[in-house]
Amino acid sequence: MGAALAERAKQAELLLGKARTEYRLLPAGRMLNRCAAGSLMPFQWTINPYRGCELGCCYCYARYTHEYLELDGGAFERIIFVKQFSRNLFERELRAVRAGEWIAIGTATDPYQPAERRYGVTRALLEVLARQAGLRVALTTKSDLAARDAGLLGRLAERNDVRVNFTVTTLDAGLARRLEPGAPRPELRLRALRRLAEAGIETAVFASPVLPGINDGAGELEALARAAREAGAKHFGAQMLFLRDPARSVFLAALERDFPHLAARYRRLYAHGSRVDARMREALELRVARIRQDLDLSRRASACAAAWGQLGLFENAATAPGGGAGVLIRLREAVEEAAAEARG
Ligand code: SF4
Repeated sequence: MGAALAERAKQAELLLGKARTEYRLLPAGRMLNRCAAGSLMPFQWTINPYRGCELGCCYCYARYTHEYLELDGGAFERIIFVKQFSRNLFERELRAVRAGEWIAIGTATDPYQPAERRYGVTRALLEVLARQAGLRVALTTKSDLAARDAGLLGRLAERNDVRVNFTVTTLDAGLARRLEPGAPRPELRLRALRRLAEAGIETAVFASPVLPGINDGAGELEALARAAREAGAKHFGAQMLFLRDPARSVFLAALERDFPHLAARYRRLYAHGSRVDARMREALELRVARIRQDLDLSRRASACAAAWGQLGLFENAATAPGGGAGVLIRLREAVEEAAAEARG
């Protein structure tokens, strides 16, 4: 499967080359991917309209997905593959989805990244989904472009269960620019969330990843959750950074460049694996639980596309049916399954 995908990637026609970014057309293939049987993921299907992500977050866990295209992780934000969309094919694929199963949109790339303005694959597939009934759809994004589709998502929500999750890691626009250089400012994301909430769509904010010493200062998460609540979010979550290669080396290099005073601390914190120690994780869990209680926000399980480590896998795994501490211990295996699924 991996070799076939790499072959298709090699044949991808160049659509546009910008100063920093190339867009290539990935010939029509499956749009809908089924998660492996017995997967710990709280969703059964995933859709990623693009491969690669121009938002270029320094902590992005999904960089490895470009290795399946025989491209290095550094190309993840520079060479974006636009999946050729076929309405007929997608409608046929949807027949395999059973009632009650979740479809997560944006598990390995942002469905509203800049390419969407030009190529509209996300909008095209939402239009097909909006003609269905009884589906459960969760979409995760960092982009205010989602507000463009407020009406369409509202129509989709009339006959289907729909959640839109926004990842907002900080309210500080300058910090966000350093962490997520291609993503719209936090205030724009919250404004988009408000627009969707007003259109009757259930929304959540995920503040993941929490980066020790960077976005976890006294009162910061609390203020973020308050802003999310005021914008209309019903759910809030935050999990510690999950750091594993190849994301690990990219993140540590960014840390040396932008936060050199923290480099030694992170090397200590992540010396023995991909997670900080249990004490730190539990402290964050308690803090987030308190925030939710104070602001009447819920932790309700969401088939949030942010299944990837830093985007909320802990959250999802813990709140999935049968979830809990035991599930968290199996995080590594869950990531492996997600990786296998992402190979497409
Ligand atoms: S973390 Fe998400 S939004 Fe950021 S680069 Fe990765 S896929 Fe894109």
